[in-house]
Amino acid sequence: MKVLVVNCGSSSLKYQVLDMPSETLLCKGLVERIGIDGSVIKHEKIGMPKYVKEVPMNDHNEAILHVIDALIDREYGVVKNMSEIEAIGHRIVQGGERYDKSVLVTDKVIQDIRELAPLAPLHNPAHLLGISACQKLMPSTPQVVVFDTAFHQTMPAKSYIYALPYEWYEKYAVRRYGAHGTSHRYVTLRAAEMLGKKPEEVNLITCHIGNGASVSAIKNGKCYDTSMGLTPLQGLVMGTRCGDIDPAVIAYIAGKENIDAFEIDSIMNKKSGILGISGISSDMRDVENAMAEGNERAKLAWDVFAQRVKHYVGAYYAELGRVDAIIFTAGVGENSAPMRADICEGLENLGIKIDLEANNVRGEDKDLSAEDSKVKVLLIPTNEELMIARDTYEIVKA
Ligand code: AMP
Repeated sequence: MKVLVVNCGSSSLKYQVLDMPSETLLCKGLVERIGIDGSVIKHEKIGMPKYVKEVPMNDHNEAILHVIDALIDREYGVVKNMSEIEAIGHRIVQGGERYDKSVLVTDKVIQDIRELAPLAPLHNPAHLLGISACQKLMPSTPQVVVFDTAFHQTMPAKSYIYALPYEWYEKYAVRRYGAHGTSHRYVTLRAAEMLGKKPEEVNLITCHIGNGASVSAIKNGKCYDTSMGLTPLQGLVMGTRCGDIDPAVIAYIAGKENIDAFEIDSIMNKKSGILGISGISSDMRDVENAMAEGNERAKLAWDVFAQRVKHYVGAYYAELGRVDAIIFTAGVGENSAPMRADICEGLENLGIKIDLEANNVRGEDKDLSAEDSKVKVLLIPTNEELMIARDTYEIVKA
């Protein structure tokens, strides 16, 4: 069964086609600047050079039309006609408390995603545009939605309830939901395989550290706690997001700078984190280069980032009691050996020992732990699209 995986943002659309159940990736692509000048589709059939076409695309319908064109292209395509695509899987950021697993798209599901949009105002409306475009252009193809929050729904209340008036939870659904759940789930399953255990036997600390970043505590294969909160602003330091701060900063800065909470929220999302501290860039590679040239604020941004991850590793170690492995994944986790080394530095008394030579690697499944490390340190490149394709295949097959 050929499965089209779609990940829609407000002005972008990422896609892949996988053949299931063999899990063979056939092609992948990205549409950028939908509805903006300079719309472009970048399509890559595996084993062929990339094809890039700049063409105006006013909305997601037009974007999907160009994706379809690419998929059925004689040279770059992967199917003769779209009826060969037997299912479509969509990534959805926010499923609230309503979804703890992936489901087939129905009118009720669409309504729920719409109602949950206030909790993911940038993402859920964009996902709906993608679903609607696919329904219009491929009306007989079943569609599945895979929620990023679903994996975190196993958290106990003591992990997800904020110490705020309980009525805010009851009236406004204010609680921790977490994010990157599809990635945390993928690396959990893969780590269990690498450890030679069943998923329900493993306790892990999964560090998804990319431009967005979160850590999860995995107990018996299920999410027990996670660092992101009501929104993806909580927890670790990120490219442009502040992560944990004293909430009193908001009222204090509102008075000092004469700006309102919404503007501060925007600054905490877009101008903080690695960018905010370093003043250079949100990209860890730029920070690393600046550090090498002696830039002190770049070094400070690096250190704060590493320290925050270490902080959560320690906290989740305490929550879990026993940890089988620490997992590194996503852009920084997969590519930056020095960052992994700095995060693990000083954790020997917790039984966490990275082998600096083994650590000199990027982007492949690998055991990085020293021989005498009680806790394994694993590098596992994430694969959210594969997870979406697996769920889609299982649901549509059934
Ligand atoms: P992601 O959000 O998972 O795509 O991760 C993107 C981020 O990964 C970029 O913004 C970079 O900060 C980081 N990254 C990618 N490659 C490297 C590298 N070689 N060294 C350090 N950071 C990297």
